Amino acid sequence: MTFLVHNTLTKEKTPFRSIEEGVVRMYNCGPTVYGRPHIGNYRSFLFADLLRGWLEYLGYTVHQVMNITDVGHLTDDDVADAGGDDKVEAQARREKKDPREITEGYTAMFLEDMAALGVREPKARPRATEYIDEMVEMVERLIELGHAYRVGDNVYFDVTSFPEYGRLSGNRIDDLEAGKRIEVNEEKRHPADFALWKSDPAHLMKWRTVFGEHGFPGWHIECSAMAKALLGDRIDIHTGGEDNVFPHHECEIAQSACANGVEMATYWMHAKFLQVDGGKMSKSLGNVYTVPDVVARGFEPRHLRFALLRGHYRTQINFTWAIMEEIRSRLENLDELAVLLSRAKGAEGGDPEAGREHLAAARDGFEAGMNDDLNTPVALAALEQFRRPLLDGAVGSAVASEALEWLGRAGEVLGFIETSEPEADVEIEALIEQRNAAKAAKDWAAADAARDALVAMGIELQDTPDGVVWRRR
Ligand code: AMP
Ligand code: ZN
Repeated sequence: MTFLVHNTLTKEKTPFRSIEEGVVRMYNCGPTVYGRPHIGNYRSFLFADLLRGWLEYLGYTVHQVMNITDVGHLTDDDVADAGGDDKVEAQARREKKDPREITEGYTAMFLEDMAALGVREPKARPRATEYIDEMVEMVERLIELGHAYRVGDNVYFDVTSFPEYGRLSGNRIDDLEAGKRIEVNEEKRHPADFALWKSDPAHLMKWRTVFGEHGFPGWHIECSAMAKALLGDRIDIHTGGEDNVFPHHECEIAQSACANGVEMATYWMHAKFLQVDGGKMSKSLGNVYTVPDVVARGFEPRHLRFALLRGHYRTQINFTWAIMEEIRSRLENLDELAVLLSRAKGAEGGDPEAGREHLAAARDGFEAGMNDDLNTPVALAALEQFRRPLLDGAVGSAVASEALEWLGRAGEVLGFIETSEPEADVEIEALIEQRNAAKAAKDWAAADAARDALVAMGIELQDTPDGVVWRRR
């Protein structure tokens, strides 16, 4: 099976090949913890989780790292050399708290939401403040190699030292200069150079390092250093939301390639922004929703997971409460697959091999969709179409049993469908088994006891030449 992935670096969809056979190293940009992440953020995180799930379905061992940004992400972050306030510190002032209380509090909420959304645990969730030494080391190395320079206690990356700068985003150095979106900073050799290390005595979270007394890292160097520390110099996949393409990932590529002498990641993958009510989420419209907001409206977190994964990650999707209602009923139908399959599995008589083509269509359609750059709409349609033949009783017991096993694996990837057999059915099947075994052993008392237990559950048994058939009264 070929898994095609779209690479922002090449703008092409190409077959996925890992550096090490059977192993994938993946780094996902995580949240900046200055507020509870909103549902848009979760679109990006769930995309990363879905990707991991699909790689595991394909048999890879996935070493996944998702960071937590707890320092250095400044407010004016649409330019490479960001300015403004540290987002965490600005929030600390608003809430009259210590910055670390802010990051601890919002990290806890983030982890709570991730658990509620059924996100798999990565190998590590590094916090930027825990990797200051590694960042400093990388910055020193960049200076040594002539890719960065110090001005007083600040350190800048020299973009002219990396001719490939701009390859990911298409923002060439010359265009950036001409665009004049860059603030004039006399210290810098080139206006497009960006800070690797900043000094500011007024900054609350600061470290004494070789660069001076009151420094803190630039946001971009954080991810370069954490990825290197936890996954090594070469990784397979790096993900984020579309706004990370520039400047964040463009700068990461430059720093890592220059410091390590090798290309950081083979594939760069980006999720498109979620829209809410057909537009950008905004505080003034009051539609910057969080996971608890969705739960407060009577939805389960898995409904949100479905809503955020229902569209292909590179297409625009919208969130509204009306869409959530549709999701609720679509999910009821998907949940019913396991119930219908469980019935079909237990049914006696008929051709156990019937309907194999329906299972093949569901499995092939699902796999073809997922292999096409995680095209979830195609994959989901294949699952949804499997319901009809089940309602029509067109699937035999052997096929149903196999389908249940496969549905479990597909459901594991998606993470929002109920795929276990209904408990009651499992119990009924077990009692029928017991009764059959007792009858075979001529233990009539035990056989009657099993039948009585079934009758007490409202189950009617009928002994037919093909075996026992049961139905609810
Ligand atoms: P931040 O907390 O701002 O560092 O963002 C965390 C992640 O969420 C980044 O990868 C962003 O690209 C992503 N993100 C932010 N807003 C949205 C959105 N509306 N839809 C999808 N991803 C988003
Ligand atoms: Zn990052």
